[in-house]
Amino acid sequence: MDFSIPAEWTDLLRTVREFTEQEIEPIWRKIEDDDEIPAAVLAKAGALGLFGLTIPEEYGGLGLPMLAKALVYEELGRTHAGFVSIIGTHCGIGTTAITNLGSEEQKRAYLPMLATGEWIGAFALTEPGAGSDAASIATSATRRGDRWILNGTKHFITNARMAKVFTVFAVTDRTKGSKGISAFIVPRDANGFTISRFQPTMGLRGSHVAELVFENCEIPAENLLGPEGLGYTTALKTLAQGRVGIGARCVGAAQRCIELSVDYARQRKQFGKPIAEFQLIQGHLAEMAAETAAARQLAYYSASLLDAGKAARREAAMTKLVCTETYGRVVDKAVQIHGGMGYCKDVQVEHYYRDARITRIYEGTSEIQKLIIARDLLGE
Ligand SMILES: Cc1cc2nc3c(=O)[nH]c(=O)nc-3n(C[C@H](O)[C@H](O)[C@H](O)COP(=O)(O)OP(=O)(O)OC[C@H]3O[C@@H](n4cnc5c(N)ncnc54)[C@H](O)[C@@H]3O)c2cc1C
Repeated sequence: MDFSIPAEWTDLLRTVREFTEQEIEPIWRKIEDDDEIPAAVLAKAGALGLFGLTIPEEYGGLGLPMLAKALVYEELGRTHAGFVSIIGTHCGIGTTAITNLGSEEQKRAYLPMLATGEWIGAFALTEPGAGSDAASIATSATRRGDRWILNGTKHFITNARMAKVFTVFAVTDRTKGSKGISAFIVPRDANGFTISRFQPTMGLRGSHVAELVFENCEIPAENLLGPEGLGYTTALKTLAQGRVGIGARCVGAAQRCIELSVDYARQRKQFGKPIAEFQLIQGHLAEMAAETAAARQLAYYSASLLDAGKAARREAAMTKLVCTETYGRVVDKAVQIHGGMGYCKDVQVEHYYRDARITRIYEGTSEIQKLIIARDLLGE
């Protein structure tokens, strides 16, 4: 397939590279120590349009097709994952459902502010009792006059600390199973909605997950997102679109780990010569580069299928599976090449190693991707 990159995308990619190299790379250590992405950096990212990658231009976004978005994600993936997690969650699961299913009034009310990053988006599906089995969520939404009343608890919700707009999934008809789940737009200041607890994590410093509690939380009837009962389908479609994006981010991160490893192998000397001259180290580097190149092609291919209007369910799942598992192997070798230094917080590969681990878990674990691929193969 032809993945030639139009000039306007090349300019955007160069801008993103300059931004990450000037604004994020110099402060990676500070992000690790402070567990915080400076607000000024997020504001600059907003000014570049990075919060509106796929929001249509008429609502203030860049309206990029999936292949362009994958290329931008690959660039972003090179830099600190905490920063990328905030933007990736916002541009992926945080705003996709409103963009795809929102009424004209909802789009006009939310998308322009989400496109600039003045409002941050979050996606609340997972619950303490419902992770991979998302159809078993317990949070309920009951219609009372011109309001919906939400009750329940969500956990592991990325961006909850700063989000203004939440896409929340709740059961509106318990007798209908997954067809009784609906999606809602819940503003942060809704009555009865609290962010109850932050959950410290292994990596992704600067990006935070939290528990959400809805106690007779009241939202206007018009905050139903899409048709009643279509929430589960909306959640699955939103997650499917996100899979290619996560894959592309992993390709960028893996590429960065290769570059860091090449640099280290050239300058670190043992037995009187740079370790880069040892063939076992060269073998690691060659495997890292070959696997990353293969993963990259799969991500581009899936993105181009989505741009051609194909569902690409199997390919999107393959992309998440292959790219995240590849990244896991690449970063493991990167740590190995760095020797003892790879285990120390003084070098960047240490946080890439921790940050890589979540990519095989969130937005559908590797096991769930395999189930999706197998079910598609078997025609289920
Ligand atoms: C940092 C972080 C950020 C997150 N952000 C969000 C967010 O913004 N919004 C949101 O809604 N959720 C979010 N999540 C939740 C995430 O999507 C879930 O953690 C993930 O889907 C897995 O669910 P679980 O943790 O309940 O694991 P479980 O579903 O309990 O799975 C445990 C293990 O069992 C395996 N397993 C489960 N079912 C099967 C099966 N049928 N066959 C084979 N193996 C199976 C899984 O693959 C896994 O290995 C986030 C999680 C984390 C840690």
